[in-house]
Amino acid sequence: MGEFDLIRRYFQRPVQRAALGVGDDCALLAPAPGMQLAISSDMLVEGRHFFPDVNPRLLGHKALAVNLSDLAASGAKPLAFTLALSLPRADEAWISEFAQGMFALADAHDCELIGGDTTGGPLNICITVFGEVPAGQALLRSGARAGDELWVSGQLGDARLALETLLGHVQPPADLLQQARQRLEAPTPRVALGLALRGIASSALDVSDGLLGDLGHILDLSKVGATVDSRLTTPLIAASAYPSSATWQFDSKLQQLCTLAGGDDYELCFTAPATRHADVLAAGVASSTPVHHIGHIDAQPGLRVLGADGQPMPNDWKSFDHFSS
Ligand code: ADP
Ligand code: MG
Repeated sequence: MGEFDLIRRYFQRPVQRAALGVGDDCALLAPAPGMQLAISSDMLVEGRHFFPDVNPRLLGHKALAVNLSDLAASGAKPLAFTLALSLPRADEAWISEFAQGMFALADAHDCELIGGDTTGGPLNICITVFGEVPAGQALLRSGARAGDELWVSGQLGDARLALETLLGHVQPPADLLQQARQRLEAPTPRVALGLALRGIASSALDVSDGLLGDLGHILDLSKVGATVDSRLTTPLIAASAYPSSATWQFDSKLQQLCTLAGGDDYELCFTAPATRHADVLAAGVASSTPVHHIGHIDAQPGLRVLGADGQPMPNDWKSFDHFSS
């Protein structure tokens, strides 16, 4: 099957909202008056971001999910996306599964595929998403202020636990691994929460490389510091609720690593003035997304982590960096 047949069969669908979709040189989007376009790209590379034998349906889901997560972090509503795909071969069964996983999530968010590029080469998936947000209302990394409360959505650390298991570093029971693997392979972008936080959160980002490392980006751009209470973050790994047994004890160091520096969580980390505490909780309820208060923003620069005894503990967690030595 040739390149254009492949595109037509698996990726060309009638567009609903865009002015023009797949088939011409450019797609056309017509932003509504008063709206800004929010745009983000994320690339997934085989061997780097996923294992070669990963289920293609889950991969299709994840490739789009990590992009929608960026829109969520900006408080933007998904509109459309493009897909640049490099494939080692035209394996139709694989491509069909990949497209189904991707389109199921796209449809759930009313986000349409409007174009892309397809080439032969090592397996590599790059999606660019387009969203819209009322002008001036996007959530930014730069708005945190001293005294703000620090929050995170959902669960932290289970994706990292799955990764550590797949790498052979730990051996949790099979049913626990299955739960954790779901978080690694099929993350949930927190789009509804991002929208609900507009006008409430002072800053936000999505946690892709680990909570502390990503929080560091908010601190840098907002020129503030923060205190994170690990007594509030440690229980956010679902695996911590799993009963210990003779063969599985969830090591507390590993639990801290997974929750504080895990990566691949795709939760939102955000700040809001303390006076908006009830509004944040209401946004969580309105979007059916758990939200957890985990610390606060300080005028004093730097990131302080309180340990199990409530005292500051050494903070040398490294977040994931592709080019760190
Ligand atoms: P061009 O050479 O003009 O850049 P292509 O021949 O690469 O265009 O692509 C033809 C059309 O198919 C374009 O509209 C492009 O956006 C679309 N397209 C190519 N690959 C994909 C893909 N993987 N998913 C969605 N649309 C695609
Ligand atoms: Mg062209």
